[in-house]
Amino acid sequence: MSKVKKKVKVIKVDVDKCNGCRACEMICSAFHATPKYSSNNPARSRIRLIREPLRDVYLPVYAGEYAAAECMGRDKYVIDGKEYEECGFCRASCPSRDVFKEPDSKLPLKCDMCEDDPAQPEPLCVQWCITKALTYEEREEEVEEDVKLGDLETGLESLAGKYGLQEIMDTVARMAMSKKD
Ligand code: SF4
Ligand code: SF4
Repeated sequence: MSKVKKKVKVIKVDVDKCNGCRACEMICSAFHATPKYSSNNPARSRIRLIREPLRDVYLPVYAGEYAAAECMGRDKYVIDGKEYEECGFCRASCPSRDVFKEPDSKLPLKCDMCEDDPAQPEPLCVQWCITKALTYEEREEEVEEDVKLGDLETGLESLAGKYGLQEIMDTVARMAMSKKD
């Protein structure tokens, strides 16, 4: 695979600065609502707060790649005496939990760095995080050329994993035929 120069966009998370306000969840879900800003349901956010105020645990986690299969292990982390729940740091939408799934369709959600239309100068969750627990960085790197899946492809990949590719293709063909009638 060839190497190309690519702008790498990074959101850094400083867990110790997070106060669990959930402003990041609200703005993310509002920006990705249809129509934009018409609702702010945190269940539709691509960043989720693991929040246990009694133990002072606040952990913002970004939605990453969709995983078609459950993993074999469950990790627990203890950092500075705080214990984080199993799967706590995992960014995947996967079959073993409801996190990072669109609540109505159950299709996987993935952080798009707010490159949706209109693209934002900085990710909105960073702009709305007043404690600076989230900060944004851009840098140039030489990386392997890859094919980036968009929301539609990620959704289709998840449906194909659930129902099989042939069933999806048959359904699309049936829909196309019924549109012609
Ligand atoms: S960068 Fe944008 S899409 Fe990603 S979690 Fe933050 S607000 Fe949501
Ligand atoms: S906006 Fe910042 S401080 Fe508030 S919950 Fe999100 S990451 Fe934490």
